[in-house]
Amino acid sequence: MCSHFKFGAQKPPISPSGLNFCVCVRVLCGGKGYFPLESEYKEYLAKIPNSTEDKRKFKNMAVTGTVNCQCSHVFVLSCVDLHYGEKFANADKTLAMELEQHGPGAEEFDFTLRIETEDIDEVTTYDIACEYFVNLEERFKTHFPHLVPRLQRMRWGIPALHVQGHQDSCTYLFGTAYMECVGHFHGETAEQYWPGLNQLGPHVRQMNNGHRQDTMIVHHGDWNYKKTAQLASDLAAEILDAKKKYIAKRNHFIGLSLSFKDRVEKWRAMPRVVSKIGKEAVSVYKHRETKVPSQSAIFQKMLNDTGTFSQTMVPKNRVAQFMDESLKIQDLQRKVRDLISDTNEHDLQARRKEITVRTSKLRMRMEAWRKVQKELMPRVGDRIAEQTLSAPAIHDEKLLLPSDFSSDNERLELDIANLAAEEIRWREAQAFDALRAIQNIVKTISALRGRKIKNDRQQKQNTRAVDNILEATKLRDQHMDLYEIARQALIALNGPTKFPLLTESDLYMKPVLDKRRVGDSHRTDGALWRHPAAIPVEEAEAVSTTIISANNPGPHKQSEGGQPKQMTSAENRPDGWLWQLGKLTKLTASEMEEWSSEGDRVQWFRAEAEMQRWQEQYEQKLAELLRTRRSFKRMDQTWTTLAAQPSESRVGYSAYARQKAVMYRKRAELAEKLIADIGYSDLLEPDASLVERIQREREEQERVLAKAMSIS
Ligand SMILES: [Zn+2]
Ligand SMILES: [Zn+2]
Repeated sequence: MCSHFKFGAQKPPISPSGLNFCVCVRVLCGGKGYFPLESEYKEYLAKIPNSTEDKRKFKNMAVTGTVNCQCSHVFVLSCVDLHYGEKFANADKTLAMELEQHGPGAEEFDFTLRIETEDIDEVTTYDIACEYFVNLEERFKTHFPHLVPRLQRMRWGIPALHVQGHQDSCTYLFGTAYMECVGHFHGETAEQYWPGLNQLGPHVRQMNNGHRQDTMIVHHGDWNYKKTAQLASDLAAEILDAKKKYIAKRNHFIGLSLSFKDRVEKWRAMPRVVSKIGKEAVSVYKHRETKVPSQSAIFQKMLNDTGTFSQTMVPKNRVAQFMDESLKIQDLQRKVRDLISDTNEHDLQARRKEITVRTSKLRMRMEAWRKVQKELMPRVGDRIAEQTLSAPAIHDEKLLLPSDFSSDNERLELDIANLAAEEIRWREAQAFDALRAIQNIVKTISALRGRKIKNDRQQKQNTRAVDNILEATKLRDQHMDLYEIARQALIALNGPTKFPLLTESDLYMKPVLDKRRVGDSHRTDGALWRHPAAIPVEEAEAVSTTIISANNPGPHKQSEGGQPKQMTSAENRPDGWLWQLGKLTKLTASEMEEWSSEGDRVQWFRAEAEMQRWQEQYEQKLAELLRTRRSFKRMDQTWTTLAAQPSESRVGYSAYARQKAVMYRKRAELAEKLIADIGYSDLLEPDASLVERIQREREEQERVLAKAMSIS
């Protein structure tokens, strides 16, 4: 039994009337195939008025297309003809037919099955669900009153790609990505059957009505049969895929939770349900559009914040002061090196002067520092002298800190083992600070880039935006270098480290200011967003490689691909967006902080939703696979019973029934083998309970999450 349904409208086959056939030829299935009984359907349609415009538009056409109702596995469940294009009345009929399939007559089911049928959580997607469902209940009260109770329990969604063309609020009100208990059901599979069915169009367009419907019924049956044959192995593959994706999403979510640890408790208590205030959807998955700082304000905030991120450790004693100064000198050296390499590209007078000034400052600080070093690391003196012989430039000079020596033995020999322990603490702080700064910068770049696409049409604004982005990118790269220096030092001092290699693809972040894009649930933000404590040492490198492949195509390609769509949505956007320069909104520091935190919140909630959807997907597919096996076994029984019925004159009937029984028995056996192969043989026991198992697994996952949150 399938709980998710979708409509797909089929444009051809077109059947021009009055050519060479008579439209009253009867369908052999007489309403028992996928189509309704023609006379009943006509009677129903006669009650619904058609506009004269429609009549003119579809003149000379008897049938303009068909609408299918299909389940989430793309089995065709019901189908009706369209006479004046795709109208709600036609869609209503297919929906009603689908509901009737397990509606009346269900009282004859045995108790457990009846409970199961009544318990179905029906989620239906339709390209225009946001409009379709508005008066749906009214229409059903008039035409299909017996189905109204079922309809009232139904939830409505819009397929993931179609919703991109709707207003933003539809993503939060009807997008299945943020809907609880829908797994990875995105609705777009409705169209998978179209290419096959489209080929049927030319065949059936000149057939009479009965023959045309029969031909389509045969094809629907063929499609469904092939689906049945493939169902168990498809579901098994989906279970494995969902489990893998869930683990990846869960690990990412844990890392993100640790990064935002101070706010997670508050977020957790927030309701996930979307509400509507006026025309706007309000949702935890959505960035509120009211208070938005200007581009230059964002940029300024980033510059200020980046400064504050380098204050984790405050030097208290002499050794600490020495370590602090070491790292600062290394940073100065790097800055001079950057300036020099920059000058190689643009040789400016001002640049050269800056280099001279900085170099002399560096020299003074280095001299003072070397004096302290001599006291704290007396045995390193020889090595320093050795270096002086080769006379390196001041910005290339090695400081000869504990991390500059490759082995513990060497450090023992030089009597700097204690200092090495101190350096580890400083390097870890340095790496953390660098990561926080990079996170902040990347968020800024993402915001700046989004605003640039949306608003900066004028040349002057555009140039300014590009400059800001370039400068931010440069700053980001510097901090990435810094992170790598700290990381390498930690490796030299302490072997493998919990800090993973940071590559550009780890920086990837889905834009949080905009609505989600198609395929987001398959992408995960880069490793940067996860707290390093969340990644076990041995996994660290492996994790970052998986992320790289998962993120292809990279962020740049993505933003280019999404550009035309974003342009249109910007045009529909009300004037809440004050990103243009010159329209500076004066936000207070705390408002600015709130805005920034809002982005974190959106990122966290979306990551949570993605994790939950894959978890649900895994659980649902497992339930479906078990049901598939049960259904095959049931079919085997039913055909066996039929085969045993005494029918002397009809021996062929028995043979046919036995053949069917064996076919389903084999399918049930295959399903059992698959269930065992993917590790769920315990669920094949007669008294096994899937519910209990899922509950256990969920509790286990809760523990994993809680444990991860308590470690840092
Ligand atoms: Zn199905
Ligand atoms: Zn809509």
